[in-house]
Amino acid sequence: MPHRPRGSTSTPDTLALIHDISPIISDRLAVWPGDTPPTREILLDLARGDAVTLSTCRATVHLGAHADAPSHYGRDADSIEARRLDLYIGPCRVVTARAQPRRRVALDDLDNLDDDCRATRLLIRTGTYPDPNAFRDDFAALEPALIEHLAARGVRLVGIDTPSVDLFDSKDLPAHQMLLKHDLAVLEGLVLDGVPDGLYELIALPLRLKGYDASPVRAILRTTAHHDEDRP
Ligand SMILES: [Zn+2]
Repeated sequence: MPHRPRGSTSTPDTLALIHDISPIISDRLAVWPGDTPPTREILLDLARGDAVTLSTCRATVHLGAHADAPSHYGRDADSIEARRLDLYIGPCRVVTARAQPRRRVALDDLDNLDDDCRATRLLIRTGTYPDPNAFRDDFAALEPALIEHLAARGVRLVGIDTPSVDLFDSKDLPAHQMLLKHDLAVLEGLVLDGVPDGLYELIALPLRLKGYDASPVRAILRTTAHHDEDRP
């Protein structure tokens, strides 16, 4: 149910909004070629007369919207349960890049980045991976120099609407290595359709999976008008 910030009028534009930027996880969801797609085993089922329904999920942890851990691309680096949670909650900016398939987004492909320094989290829309249920290998990625620039201006988390911040056929993963160098957090596999560019609050917590190299996240963006609202 939508809520209104206290003290606001009832005009519809004061309604706080939640944008769900995670794809639906089902057996249709595409994963990286060779990785493990999600499958569900139903151990018990109310429809068969069991006392409860009980499922087992088997899947890659790089599933849909997910956070890579540094241990995914750095030897002896932190695994996902060791990541600071404040990286994944807080002010966040969504920007649309002038992206091309199979090309890396550079600083010049983003406008107005320096207008507003409040957001230390940046989600970059490339529009090059339109359907989470259909893997394609021509998605755009990020220039390492862009990541370095963002780190220098205080960005702590970068997110993208493709399966990787590196190109599909990249072997040395320079964008991931730049994330590692500056200890940036990363979200991949986001769905930014219908989310206007602008400022939000991001919430995208990874699970506390000990020793794992990533975790699926339920990534949402709340409009900033929402902030008062959970107070009693
Ligand atoms: Zn990654």
